[in-house]
Amino acid sequence: MNPLVNHQVWLPIFFLAIIQTSNAAEVADHVFLNGKIVTVDKEETVATAMAVAAGKILYVGDVASARAYRGESTRVFDLGGKTVLPGLIDSHTHPVSAAMIEFDHELPEMQSIADVLAYIRDRAEVLGEGKWIVIQQVFITRLEEKRYPTRDELDSAAPNNPVVFRTGPDASLNSQALTHFNIGIESKDPEGSKIERDSVGNPTGILRGWSRIVNIPDAASSSPQQADRLARLQTLFRDYNATGITGIIDRNTSTEGMGLYHGLESSKELNVRVAMSRAVGNKESAERIREQIRAIGQEPAKATPTAMLRTVGIKMFLDGGMLTGSAYLRKPWGTSKVYGISDPDYRGLRFIPNDKLEAAVDECAATGLQFTAHSVGDGAVHALLDTYARVAKQRPIKHTRPNITHCNFMSAEAIRLMAKLGVSADIQPAWLYLDTRTLAQHFGEDRLTFFQLLKDIFKEGVIAGGGSDHMQKIGSLRSINPYHPFLGMWITITRRAHGYEGQLHPEQALDRMQALRFYTINNAYLMFLEDQVGSIEVGKFADFIVLDRDYLTCPVDAIRRIQVNDTWLAGRQVYARTATDR
Ligand SMILES: [Zn+2]
Repeated sequence: MNPLVNHQVWLPIFFLAIIQTSNAAEVADHVFLNGKIVTVDKEETVATAMAVAAGKILYVGDVASARAYRGESTRVFDLGGKTVLPGLIDSHTHPVSAAMIEFDHELPEMQSIADVLAYIRDRAEVLGEGKWIVIQQVFITRLEEKRYPTRDELDSAAPNNPVVFRTGPDASLNSQALTHFNIGIESKDPEGSKIERDSVGNPTGILRGWSRIVNIPDAASSSPQQADRLARLQTLFRDYNATGITGIIDRNTSTEGMGLYHGLESSKELNVRVAMSRAVGNKESAERIREQIRAIGQEPAKATPTAMLRTVGIKMFLDGGMLTGSAYLRKPWGTSKVYGISDPDYRGLRFIPNDKLEAAVDECAATGLQFTAHSVGDGAVHALLDTYARVAKQRPIKHTRPNITHCNFMSAEAIRLMAKLGVSADIQPAWLYLDTRTLAQHFGEDRLTFFQLLKDIFKEGVIAGGGSDHMQKIGSLRSINPYHPFLGMWITITRRAHGYEGQLHPEQALDRMQALRFYTINNAYLMFLEDQVGSIEVGKFADFIVLDRDYLTCPVDAIRRIQVNDTWLAGRQVYARTATDR
């Protein structure tokens, strides 16, 4: 909506140079007329005009009343009937590492074992003998073959390099890497980990909970400076703005990452509101974990949070992943070629025993921090809920908005318990889209009845917010995971998945308004900012986006292709699609 752009080309929003003196008590900086403003307030009001002053919404309602806020310096925009939504929020990203992953070299898209091996051969040639080759987060559930590359395959691609194919908490290693780490037939499984073996006990190369067994070195061939990190983070945030994102929660912020955010905030270059779940490791003692949590409670981002940058709490990892065969389930996984599981009683991995988990939750409640843990399997979800219930008997925790991250496999009782304890969740529809075909093949559709129970969660009044778990690359659809929020909304509305016929349990589909709340006001709640952002209401920050089509009435399959024309953050335009893009 740049008024300077030649509107003949792209229409229909242009600067109206009509200036009149305001009759209202207050004068707006900007007035927006003739739109379809989906406010996402409690009544789900749709307005036609709004006025903005000093970065906040001064008025929302009809055109005639909005005009009254015009003053001599007011810029008036004609929205030309376009749909306006509140700025979108992604409640689960890892921007700092995602922005850096391709600093060294561009990563090709890998859809098959052959792609993976071709990439390894390429790297072996570029790097030379003996150098580490580490592939991260190429999920086996998303490969055509739906399995790990074997030790032999990795050996054949790079016989003279140690190779690690790492995905979540699990990894597949080649022979050089196993030798480097001294992993052989005699090796024991450290607590919370498992070395997969063949019928005679030799390691197959697959390690579950690899971080407890090996220390994978950094394989980058050039090392970025602080300025590089800041520049790439800004590039990513500009792309977030271009997809309509005005707020995120970084769900595992390191101290270094927090430093980058503070840097951008103090130079006034932070274009996305950032809430942080600070990273706390799970390997240290309960007392050491308590100390870390107390220290996080003293940091400026917690002690003096702003609407742009704030610590909401901490995050730990309670179990493994469903894309890698290590989510902690209540019933056994079942043996599987895809996941390389041979033990019929195997239920996945749980990384935090009860005493430590309770200490962490208790300390968060005492410090006023939100606790959340990566909890993919229903075993982990229930273990965490039981811990919240135990701590809640000792001291109040509701006000800290205890949370469950991922929360993929659930149960009806879990949702009831969440409602009772005031527990929220951050859930990632992209996983339903990308992984259903493999999950359905492994678990069968019945066992997926309890997968991402969004409709039930909304019905029970539990607050859940949508996110991407964006962890790699810049680019809303090429990234892992894709962070295009309208793709996310479309997934929750259709429950359709890549390479999968039909809908996955459509009874759990959201309607369009629910899907919108999932990416706006609910996520604002998860950021502890629902009084300031997440809807277009008087007194809130003017964070909003203008769309290329009508989210509420366009054909359902057009939702995933919605593009954002303009993004505004606190009354400032931070993104405008150029005429040639439209
Ligand atoms: Zn994550």
